[in-house]
Amino acid sequence: MHDHRKLGRELDLFDTDPLIGAGLPYWLPDGAVVRHALEEYIRGAELRAGYRHVHSPVLGKRELYEISGHWSHYSEDMFPPMDLGGEQLVLRPSLCPHHALIYRSRSHSYREPPLRMAELGGMYRSELSGVLGGLTRVRAIQLNDAHIFCTLDQVAAEARGALELIRDAYAALGIEAARYRLSLPGPGGKYVADPELWRRSADLLAEVLDGVDHEAVEGEAAFYGPKIDVQIADSAGRESTLSTIQVDFHQPSRFDLHYIGPDGARHRPVMVHRSIIGSVERAVAHLVERHGGAFPAWLAPTQLVALPVSEGELPQADALVRRCAERGLRAEIARPERGSLGARVRDARLVPYQAVIGAKEAAAGQVALRLRDGRKLDPMPAAEAVDRISASVGAHRTELWD
Ligand SMILES: [Zn+2]
Repeated sequence: MHDHRKLGRELDLFDTDPLIGAGLPYWLPDGAVVRHALEEYIRGAELRAGYRHVHSPVLGKRELYEISGHWSHYSEDMFPPMDLGGEQLVLRPSLCPHHALIYRSRSHSYREPPLRMAELGGMYRSELSGVLGGLTRVRAIQLNDAHIFCTLDQVAAEARGALELIRDAYAALGIEAARYRLSLPGPGGKYVADPELWRRSADLLAEVLDGVDHEAVEGEAAFYGPKIDVQIADSAGRESTLSTIQVDFHQPSRFDLHYIGPDGARHRPVMVHRSIIGSVERAVAHLVERHGGAFPAWLAPTQLVALPVSEGELPQADALVRRCAERGLRAEIARPERGSLGARVRDARLVPYQAVIGAKEAAAGQVALRLRDGRKLDPMPAAEAVDRISASVGAHRTELWD
């Protein structure tokens, strides 16, 4: 596997500037394309799975995090508060408190749960500069987050549904889980105390992992509850958590969340926190390392390069690129003055589809496709090539051709 920091710079995906600061990478146009494609995939998968998206601000008052418990259990990872007109504002260390307030802002009947609230939102962590580098330890994080407000009876099915979204995403991204971990509290005082609730949540998650190869590890739980962590491994074999599913009885009670039951009384929902791809930063870092820049076609910054053999085929190459753009595909021309055909093919080695157009193809309205994996296809009508590529990209396939 590759080092994503080195490759990210070489491929013009992202970079940092000391004036912006350590742990605060910016995204160049090609990197932004990969990121947007990933975000679009996640939003689409969530919509199909019955999630509704919200937006909430990256700041909140200090009191909010005192209620959520972040202030007493997590403040060493938070940026110091900002004083403003007698108030203290905090850069949020997680999205949960905002989502709890959004839930609380409207009344809910027992017919609504499971209520699935999702957001790809910003959060901040005051990492020390010594551990920063690339996209894996950053201070500004874009989190693929969601909270499911549901009844106790619904928790296992919702957690299983989240696990399925995670599996589908890994297949589309061409990545693999290193292992599944059931993360439990360890000795020490960073957890909220309620042994009975911890036991119940841990039992529920263990039930969800029944039949899935996993390890139970103490000391890795969130401060408010146990979680399922899906671990990935980096180029040096170091493990980190990409996806999580957590069961939380604590925050619903801290924020006094409820729904009205069929009996007309107030009932407390459970909160399931879940993230399919974790932070966008870590997910892209892993994709770069795993694929060495040869992303699945639906994620590739450039999906097709048109290669006219000579100046004479430029109009056909132009038309092909326009046809691709109309279908939402990212295509560009590598013009003959950029070198021999062989040199241009080598330059485009990370582009999944290379469409060679010689005099014969131009006259027949055809293209000769070369795939990134070295396969050369027989010339076919340009329209057919674009249709098939568009279908494959639209279905988030990792196979280039079938
Ligand atoms: Zn959460």
